[in-house]
Amino acid sequence: MMFVLIIGYVWAVWTIAKNVVKQTENKFAEDMLKIKENYQNLIEKRAEIHKGREQLEEEATKIFILYEMTREIAKNFNEHDAFEVFKGKLRENIPFEECRLLDVFDQDVESLKKLPDYLVFTLQDKERTIGYLAVKRVSELDKEKIVILGHQFALALRRIRLYQEIERLATTDSLTEVYTRRYILTRLEEELRRSKLRKMELSILMIDVDYFKTFNDRYGHLTGDQMLLEIAAIIKLNIREIDIVGRYGGEEFCVLLPDTSTEGAKYVAERIRSAVQTTSIKIYDATVNTTVSIGVACYPQHGQSLEELMERADWALYRAKKNGRNSVCSFGVYDK
Ligand code: GH3
Ligand code: MG
Ligand code: MG
Repeated sequence: MMFVLIIGYVWAVWTIAKNVVKQTENKFAEDMLKIKENYQNLIEKRAEIHKGREQLEEEATKIFILYEMTREIAKNFNEHDAFEVFKGKLRENIPFEECRLLDVFDQDVESLKKLPDYLVFTLQDKERTIGYLAVKRVSELDKEKIVILGHQFALALRRIRLYQEIERLATTDSLTEVYTRRYILTRLEEELRRSKLRKMELSILMIDVDYFKTFNDRYGHLTGDQMLLEIAAIIKLNIREIDIVGRYGGEEFCVLLPDTSTEGAKYVAERIRSAVQTTSIKIYDATVNTTVSIGVACYPQHGQSLEELMERADWALYRAKKNGRNSVCSFGVYDK
């Protein structure tokens, strides 16, 4: 009996111990599984953080490139120079074969859009198209970069054009589309300095419309305005590209002729005078015309300073008026 009890006791203890060991083993296996899972999670999180960091670094690089490019382009007030800077910056970051800037009316745009080799990006100013960028052989991956940088370049282009327009408005007379008095005086100062440095002559023409008060009285102020516009166009047609014309006063124009002697300037003045005389403008059924008188002064022959030269050109103009109008006079002829 005693033996049976002992056997039973041992069996019970063994069974309990076996269960405890099994439970412990199970628990251990569970714990190990959890640890494994946690470890796996940690590895995945680390990979995510790494990827996030890479993305952040990529974003930072993009922002830096944008900042650098915007800063470099902003230094330019000229479209061509700004585009060259843009192209250079693009080349530093993206491989491509060729990049062209096309204006809105460029005939090549439509055909380039059809070529698979080209990415044509439209440069927008709000809703208006202001040009196109055509980039040849750029990878699919880099196309997004081109779009981002292209937007930035469009902004720069807008700024440059706005600046040019403001500058044009500030220096151009609204009626005659020639330079303003202030601008022409600034240019005269510059040209005079340049002529002194290079030991070159510089001539000034002062052009005044004859009896313009009477013209206005007879044909009306609007026709007078049209005549002034016509005279400005005639002057522009009869001078060189490097010459500068401005509206000096109401019906007075001033022309700067760099590297031109008194004789040369008188020749140009005569050409202008004659062209004005023979040009008519139409009002209703009638055709009307007018004449101009022109005074010529030349550096260094007639004066050294801006004031002196302007005064002498004015004086020559006064003599041309005295001479019967519709004529050209240089200062030299009457200064004795
Ligand atoms: P002169 O031959 O001596 O130069 O005679 P003038 O009548 O041209 O000279 P004056 O200086 O007495 O008159 C200039 C006229 O030019 C007076 C003015 O009505 C006219 N004028 C000035 N500015 C403008 C303008 O912007 N448009 C028009 N239509 N006329 C103008
Ligand atoms: Mg006048
Ligand atoms: Mg006049």
